[in-house]
Amino acid sequence: MSTSALWLVLSRLPVPPKIRLFGWRLAHEALPTGRRLQMAGMSDGQCPLCGHGIETCLHVFQECSASVSILRTCGFPDSIIMASRGSVGDWLESILWLFLTRDELRFMLVVLYHLWEQQNILVHENCLLPGWQVVCSSRTLLASFDSAQGLTSTDRMDSATPSDIWRKPPHATVKINVDAACEMDSLRSTFGVLARDDNGLVVACHASLFSGPCNAGIVEPEALRAGIQMTIGLQLSRTIVESDAMNVVRQLTLTQLDKSITGSSTTNCNMVIERSLSNG
Ligand SMILES: [Zn+2]
Repeated sequence: MSTSALWLVLSRLPVPPKIRLFGWRLAHEALPTGRRLQMAGMSDGQCPLCGHGIETCLHVFQECSASVSILRTCGFPDSIIMASRGSVGDWLESILWLFLTRDELRFMLVVLYHLWEQQNILVHENCLLPGWQVVCSSRTLLASFDSAQGLTSTDRMDSATPSDIWRKPPHATVKINVDAACEMDSLRSTFGVLARDDNGLVVACHASLFSGPCNAGIVEPEALRAGIQMTIGLQLSRTIVESDAMNVVRQLTLTQLDKSITGSSTTNCNMVIERSLSNG
């Protein structure tokens, strides 16, 4: 999974803005770790918490004995803590497929935020926060956020639309999920495509920055087009392409010519489908 696809998932979690920003930095490995400072000649790179190993993103959140202890205290099983160790991106990707609920995933993100904060407080204030405080701070922050938003745990579960819950495709079928995100602050758009088989295993994925206008009505069809093209590229015989952009799906089924901007984008999708049928 690429950084952009990972960010697409994290950006949709109901968390405070500072946690979302942290999620972006985490997905892009854009945290000023000891390793980065070492490369700039500003640090010896050692982890200030355990003193055993270079402080990379992966070390801070997964390898450091102090972090592992806190994650276990939070109730995360070793199957999650010890999942893929290639990079922090690989690890987060593994976690995405292991978690069952959005609540568990967002709690994990908030705990990781506080682990990073704990590291910074140690470096800058020479003060080590106890592990229980990291856990309590994480739970308190989420409870305060939900309270401010007027959400209860039941509300959060109810608010999950059917498209938030991934369902396995039928036997011998690959499901391709497509999604797009527009960041109005930076006027940047990304879209992602993820193909999984009937066991939930990732078959292929793709994510790109969209160079056109930052408009969901344009980026969502582009995501759908990329999903259909992936179907053709993989030469899959049984495929479901799923998008939560109902307006795009509706446009694709129109028989009349649509002259809107979105209409021209969905026309591209139709052309991809027609070309595929004529080749098949
Ligand atoms: Zn460490």
